[in-house]
Amino acid sequence: MAAAITPAGTAATSTASASDIPSVDRVLNLADIKPLLALYGRTQLTAALRKHLDKLRADALAGKLIPADVDDSQLIAILEKQLTAASRLHLRALFNLTGTVLHTNLGRALLPDEAVQAVVSALTSPANLEFDLETGGRGDRDSLVEDVLCELTGAEAATVVNNNAAAVLLMLNALAQRKEVIVSRGELVEIGGAFRIPDIMQRAGAKLVEIGTTNRTHPADYANAITPRSAMLMKVHCSNYAISGFTRSVEVSTLAELARPHGLPVTVDLGSGTLVDLTQWGLPGETTVRETMRQGADLVTFSGDKLLGGPQAGLIVGRADLIRRIKKNPLKRALRVGKLTLAALEPVLRLYLAPEFLAERLTTLRLLTRSQPAIKAQAERLLPTLQNALGTHYTVSAEAMFSQIGSGALPVDQLPSHGLVVRAGNAANGGKRHGRALDKLEKALRQLPRPVIGRIASDALWLDCRCLEQQDEALFSTQLQGLSI
Ligand SMILES: *Cc1c(COP(=O)(O)O)cnc(C)c1O
Repeated sequence: MAAAITPAGTAATSTASASDIPSVDRVLNLADIKPLLALYGRTQLTAALRKHLDKLRADALAGKLIPADVDDSQLIAILEKQLTAASRLHLRALFNLTGTVLHTNLGRALLPDEAVQAVVSALTSPANLEFDLETGGRGDRDSLVEDVLCELTGAEAATVVNNNAAAVLLMLNALAQRKEVIVSRGELVEIGGAFRIPDIMQRAGAKLVEIGTTNRTHPADYANAITPRSAMLMKVHCSNYAISGFTRSVEVSTLAELARPHGLPVTVDLGSGTLVDLTQWGLPGETTVRETMRQGADLVTFSGDKLLGGPQAGLIVGRADLIRRIKKNPLKRALRVGKLTLAALEPVLRLYLAPEFLAERLTTLRLLTRSQPAIKAQAERLLPTLQNALGTHYTVSAEAMFSQIGSGALPVDQLPSHGLVVRAGNAANGGKRHGRALDKLEKALRQLPRPVIGRIASDALWLDCRCLEQQDEALFSTQLQGLSI
C-alpha cells in the first residue's frame, strides 16, 4: 500500500497491516539505501533490516503498526541510526572533569604527541623490536629503553613489563621464591582493587615476614627478622594512604646498611616513581627513582602511566646481576610488553632529558601545573554556555575547587583548581528532587557523543576544568549547546 503522506493528527489513529511491510529485497534495492550499503556492507545492513522488519511484523500483529513505520525514508533513517549506534566503538574518548588527573578508570596518563606518532609508526611499519640494526642479529626489546632509563635513574640495568603489579610479581618470583621477604606492617598496602602486597607475595611463591606495627617500624625490627631464609628487605610506597602522628619508618639508606653484611638486596616498590623533582613546579615533593637508588636500593619498581606520564608499563631498574636474574625468569616472557608500549615509552622517557621543556611537553605535567587563574578564566568562559543549556532548572556557578593527582600519587596533596558547579533547581525544591535532577544531568553528560565525566558531591555536580585543555574547549562548548535535559 502506498501509505503516502498521512495528514498530521490522523497518524495515531490509522494503522497499517503486515502486508504493508516491504520485503528485504525491496528495501535493499531502494536508491536511497546505497550510502548505507557502501558504509556498512550488505551483511550487516541485511541483518539490521531483518531484525527491524521482524519488529514491525510484531507491531502489526499487536495492531500497533502505523503507516509511517513502513515509509521508505523512515525505514532508512531508522537503519542508519541503529547501525551508527551499533558501530560506535566501546572504548571512547571523553572529557575527564573529575578533577583527578591520573584517573585509573579513565586510562591514567595521556600521551604526548611524540609518543602518539611513534606508536602510529610502529603499528603501521615493521620495526626493530627484537632486531639489532648494528649486528643484524637478534635484539632484546628491553634494550630500546634501557639506556635512557639508566641515564635517568642512575641504575646499571633496566627491564620493562606490563604494569607495576607485574614488575613486583616478577621481581619477587625471580629473587625470593620459597624464601622470606621482610616488609614493615605499615607498608602492607592494597592498591586499588586487586593489588595487595601480601597476595602478590603469595602468588610469587615468596613468604612474607611482617615486622613492626602499623604506625612504627624500627631498624631493629628488620635486623631481628633476618635469617638464612631471607631473600630481601622490601619497602613499599604507601601510595594511596598516609599515616600521620606517632609514626616511624626506616629509610632506604638504613635498610641498605642492615642488608649489606648479609648480602641481601633492598628492593623498593615506589608505585608512581617520579623521575624529576616535582617541587620545582610547585608540586608536592616525592622521592625520585634516582634518589632511591642513591640511598642504596638495589632494585626499584614503578609504573609507566602514573606520574611518569607514559603508557601502562612496569619498570624495574637497578643492579645488573639482579636484572639479569629477573630477565631469565619464565614469567618475564609471560609479562613482557608489546611494541605499542615500547614505542610510546621511549619518546616519553626522552622528554626527561630536556627537563626545561618538560612542563610544556609532558601532558601529565602540563595538566598538573596549569595555573589556577587560567583554569578560572576558562570556567568563567564556559559558564554562560552551560547555564543556557540547562535552563532554569539548574544553577551554574564558577567556583574554586581542588584537583588531585590520582593513581595513588601523593594522596593527601591537593592542587588549587577551578571549575563549574551545578546545583539543581532553587531553594524551594526538596533535597530528594535535587538528587534526582543531578543524577539526570550527570547521566545526560555521560551520554554526549564525547561523554563528560564530573563528580557529584555535597548536592552539586562538580566539573573541574583542569584537564580541559585549550584545544578541546570549542568541542566541549559545542556539545553543551546540544545537551538535552
Ligand atoms: C600503583 C601501584 C602499584 C600497581 O601499579 P600498576 O602499574 O597499576 O600495576 C603497585 N605498587 C604501588 C606502591 C603502587 O602505587
